[in-house]
Amino acid sequence: MSFVKSLVCRECGREYPESPLYVCDFCFGPLEVKYDYEGMRGVVTRESIARGPLTMWRYRDLLPVGDGHLIDIAAGFTPLLKADNLGRLLGLCELYLKNDCVNPSYSFKDRVVAVASSKALEFGFSTIACASTGNLACSVAAHGAKAGMRTYVFIPSDLEQGKVIGAAIYGPTLVAVDGSYDDVNRLCSELADRYGWAFVNINVRPYYSEGSKTLGYEVAEQLGWRAPDHAIVPMASGSLFTKVYKGLNELANLGIIDPVRTRMSGAQAAGCSPIVTAYEHKSFNIKPIKPNTIAKSLAIGNPADGYYALKVIAASGGAAAAVTDDEVVEGIKLLAETEGVFAETAGGVTVAALKKLAASGVVRPDELTVAYITGNGLKTQEAVMGKLKEPLHIKPTVTAFEEAVAQRKDLAPLSV
Ligand SMILES: *Cc1c(COP(=O)(O)O)cnc(C)c1O
Ligand SMILES: [Zn+2]
Repeated sequence: MSFVKSLVCRECGREYPESPLYVCDFCFGPLEVKYDYEGMRGVVTRESIARGPLTMWRYRDLLPVGDGHLIDIAAGFTPLLKADNLGRLLGLCELYLKNDCVNPSYSFKDRVVAVASSKALEFGFSTIACASTGNLACSVAAHGAKAGMRTYVFIPSDLEQGKVIGAAIYGPTLVAVDGSYDDVNRLCSELADRYGWAFVNINVRPYYSEGSKTLGYEVAEQLGWRAPDHAIVPMASGSLFTKVYKGLNELANLGIIDPVRTRMSGAQAAGCSPIVTAYEHKSFNIKPIKPNTIAKSLAIGNPADGYYALKVIAASGGAAAAVTDDEVVEGIKLLAETEGVFAETAGGVTVAALKKLAASGVVRPDELTVAYITGNGLKTQEAVMGKLKEPLHIKPTVTAFEEAVAQRKDLAPLSV
């Protein structure tokens, strides 16, 4: 059974029955899923969750899906890694990485699409679609294939090859649009009005965004049922950022964890940092910008949830930081070289922002800190191509090997 009560307008509080609606008819505010938390109390417990599968569906009771069929490609329940090497370098005693690179389509987007595609099926849609900065394309195409639904995926035409192939492989109708993500999104809003399709991040967005809450639940469960002291989360639309916080607070409201004191800090690339810019100006007014960064998965110039992300930063005592593209590449390499995790550009943004916030004392040495690593580096190889040590190229002899090593100043001498 589902504990969903209704959809509620985040601005005026008007309620709507469950349906593929996303804006309030009266004030144009965004709609959000409302639950029967009283009904959940005592039913949704640490034990009931622990009995569930080792995927995000162990939190099914906290998600807006009914009893019907789920589109399940086993998203979620990804590793939480203790990052002692990186922590030591940054001066942090208790640093963890939530490694969402290892989801089925290699990014955290599988969490949101799992909910949105299951809901689309429940609503009776036969076609799913999305406007994507890249990772969503891969995930919608994968879930569409698993569901046997017709699938339309719209992407900006300048996307990384790993994301184009990572979506095309599942056989969707893939549409590369000349323009930025914000242009793609505008086009898709028009198409959503015209065709009876479930656009996962447009008309089923209230359900889609709830999938991100599982990144709050999982971290709390993996820490032994406690919330972190500080969370560093990359921001595109700002939705993930707000939902991690919502997930933690739901657990606290149900008595599953202690009251949440997690400080929420957001990370963006300087080439697309409308939320960080507003934060720095102590404003809740987001000024849309035209993105220019290698962190394409975060390149949303007009972030739909930016205002709510700023509210969460303020309410939680967190902060926000933007980093240059050079720092993004440094961040990717630092993470790989210290912790063995190869993240995409968004992960580089998160690590570089964490480094900045730790250096300035915003992230404190004794805080239990979790950095959210949300996408896989094999999808954004362009970012590091030509910036890594070249392999030695040799004939298959011992002499050739030893000569080649001796010639390279950047390698340590050989010792037997
Ligand atoms: C989409 C995405 C995000 C964040 O997206 P929001 O729109 O802020 O929810 C973060 N990291 C990666 C890798 C993404 O693809
Ligand atoms: Zn309203």
